[in-house]
Amino acid sequence: MNEPMNFSGGPGALPASVLRETRDAIEALPETGLSVLGMSHRSEWFRSVLDEAERNLRALLGIPEHYHVLFMQGGSSLQFSMLPMNFLRASRRHAEYIVSGYWSAKAPVEARLEGDTRVIWDGRADGYRRLPAAGELPLSPEAAYLHYVSNETVEGLEFADTPGLPGVPLVCDMSSNLLAAPLDVERYAMIYAHAQKNLGPAGVTVVILRDEFARRATTGLPTLLDYRTHIDARSVYNTPPVFAIYVLMLVTRWLRDEIGGVQAMAAINQAKSDVLYRALDADPGFYRVHGATSCRSTMNVAFRLPDPQMETRLMESARREGFHGLEGHRSIGGLRASLYNAVTLEAVTALAEWLGEFRRREA
Ligand SMILES: *Cc1c(COP(=O)(O)O)cnc(C)c1O
Repeated sequence: MNEPMNFSGGPGALPASVLRETRDAIEALPETGLSVLGMSHRSEWFRSVLDEAERNLRALLGIPEHYHVLFMQGGSSLQFSMLPMNFLRASRRHAEYIVSGYWSAKAPVEARLEGDTRVIWDGRADGYRRLPAAGELPLSPEAAYLHYVSNETVEGLEFADTPGLPGVPLVCDMSSNLLAAPLDVERYAMIYAHAQKNLGPAGVTVVILRDEFARRATTGLPTLLDYRTHIDARSVYNTPPVFAIYVLMLVTRWLRDEIGGVQAMAAINQAKSDVLYRALDADPGFYRVHGATSCRSTMNVAFRLPDPQMETRLMESARREGFHGLEGHRSIGGLRASLYNAVTLEAVTALAEWLGEFRRREA
């Protein structure tokens, strides 16, 4: 029996060193002697945590000065609503959405409540097995914004190229792959990602927002649903999730100091997904990867076995070997191994070897 390894789709694995520091901080922070759970969000200590989290994110991703970095609540699902409230409601333009999986399908539902919403590509009829090529997107230069999800967490599809037209604000939900690889932030008007897949524990959502785009927001919104509230209050308008932001800050330190940055992380993530896909591809009649080969995600590997009973057997037997969280999302079933930043190459290699053994035993 191995040490338990966490391949959960989310909340996902966190680095072992971050968990140790977090455990100590729950008892007493080295800086204050008090538990992190009882620290005031107005304390100098917390201001320095927020400042460092922002500074580290800016350095890791190359976020320019004319972008705001906000720490918000409500998860990525609230962003599905806040985006059109702020940027579609009072606009005379329409918003465009790419629907390429379970999560991106949720976003236009909220936008329709606010204004003219057009789904310009929808992969539902194909069971979300591939992503659109650039030439398939009927993009309009008049759109208020274009929204897409860079990594479909449920189906395991990841965009290799950035869609969009110059001049049209591009908005991306990067909940399951922010910090997994380098990124050209300047291509985007807004990026958002909740923490619980790749950045930290649940409770905080990072929003990276271009200043010039933020200024176009509608006025007259409820205070908490207006991005400018969070910009002006520097993410402490009301009580923020102090604990989640603290752990997120530790994760950014880990990524910088132990991994060596986002470029180094991307190389590790590539190696991890290569090892796993190779094991699955060894017998494509047995392990069936959900997505088309050209759209495969480095973060979420969704696959099936010849029959559901065998899938149940695999999950039970995997758990006994220390491989946890392999169940597929309830919307599509099957199996899914999530290879977020904190999942080690050693863990993925062990899983890949074990999947090979399982196949030889059962096929
Ligand atoms: C998990 C997920 C969500 C849902 O986020 P919540 O924080 O639970 O609202 C949204 N988008 C993507 C891409 C996800 O993977």
